Amino acid sequence: MRKPSMLVLAALLAVSGGVAAAEDKAAHPHWSYQGHGGPEHWSELDQANTACSISKEQSPINIDEKQVKKAPLAKLDFQYAAGTAEVINNGHTVQVNLPANSSFTAGGSVANLLQFHFHTPSEEKINGVSYPMVAHFVHKTAEGKLSVVAVLFKQGKPNQALASVFKGLPAEGKTVKLDSFDPAAVLPSERAYFKFMGSLTTPPCSDGVQWQVLKQPVEVSAGQLAAFRKLYKMNARPVQPLNGRTVELSE
Ligand SMILES: [Zn+2]
Repeated sequence: MRKPSMLVLAALLAVSGGVAAAEDKAAHPHWSYQGHGGPEHWSELDQANTACSISKEQSPINIDEKQVKKAPLAKLDFQYAAGTAEVINNGHTVQVNLPANSSFTAGGSVANLLQFHFHTPSEEKINGVSYPMVAHFVHKTAEGKLSVVAVLFKQGKPNQALASVFKGLPAEGKTVKLDSFDPAAVLPSERAYFKFMGSLTTPPCSDGVQWQVLKQPVEVSAGQLAAFRKLYKMNARPVQPLNGRTVELSE
């Protein structure tokens, strides 16, 4: 299902906490993760959110490793570069906006890295189990297609690559600027990944999003996790039905 790129862009802006999100907030009830604004009501909050309930390829999903199909998938090639960064608390998550100097290639399709953000617990489940946290790296191709890489976090040592982010997490509506941040340092060393089609996991839940979930988790300390959970105790959408989608695992 191809969508006009403007729709995808609008959806992305809403997720990025940009102008569209601010306008959206004023005109419509606030979406959230529980109660009246919770995931089961997202499609009722705004006509733009109908995909949340009618689309057959929604994210996140549970990845059942017994059902996964091994496939000779293209190697993921990250051309991430260090640069400045803006850490924004947009009321739904903490998001790190990055300059346009990082890209990602999978099977010849180049996509620019826009931002990454966190969910706790991980939205993706593996064999029915969540990780304590996940980071979603959101990329966009020249054609306006979104491609997300998910990095799972297990509890362990402090994450050095994210030390500057977790040390000064901004309060809601606030931004913290970082002079130098290296997104490549957040990635795990192994690049095996699960691949499937899905959607944005937040309203408007637009589908047609290419998902890659890296199999190897990275570590985050209990203290770093606690710092994030002080702001967001839980910001994960429940897993959605597969509806016959295939999940592939790179060989
Ligand atoms: Zn996300």
